[in-house]
Amino acid sequence: MSRSREFEIAFVGLKAGIHEFMYRIDDSFFEKYSEQDFTNCQAEVKLTLDKKSSYMFLKFEIGGKLEVICDRCNSRLPIELWDEFGITLKISENPELMNEQENDADVYYIGKGDSYFDVADWIYEFINLSIPMQKVCSYENMDGPYCDAKAREILKQMTVHPSVNSKTKNPIWKGLENFKNFD
Ligand SMILES: [Zn+2]
Repeated sequence: MSRSREFEIAFVGLKAGIHEFMYRIDDSFFEKYSEQDFTNCQAEVKLTLDKKSSYMFLKFEIGGKLEVICDRCNSRLPIELWDEFGITLKISENPELMNEQENDADVYYIGKGDSYFDVADWIYEFINLSIPMQKVCSYENMDGPYCDAKAREILKQMTVHPSVNSKTKNPIWKGLENFKNFD
């Protein structure tokens, strides 16, 4: 099986200082990983590599967009990706052992004899970390432009208790009042 070299960086030949790499990531990138819970990925990853004498610092800037399924109304929800992550790459005689012992997740070791490293797994991880945990059309109200209006109506009817009519009441207490009624 031929190895993809697209995400390999041959760092030995690089001069000290800043080097930039751009990657365009679409759904095909994720085929070698397990199934993702997003589609239509159009991400751009800008990698800035700062090569120092004894280590390298890698900054990944994640941009672009992808689509997730809204947790509340089940419609397709476009999400803008915007985040950045840093990795410090150190050279070691025994990178396997050092990677096992290292507690800092942002520090990674490569072997003394290595001439390249692969950034695909970091890109994979960082795109996933850029997706918000709570995937809903709008965080407080279900009124985002992509929200499914029909699902929203049904949810509203389910959540609003018919006996609570006062609009001045804080909605936070609604649930507690329902508990009281059952005493
Ligand atoms: Zn929604």
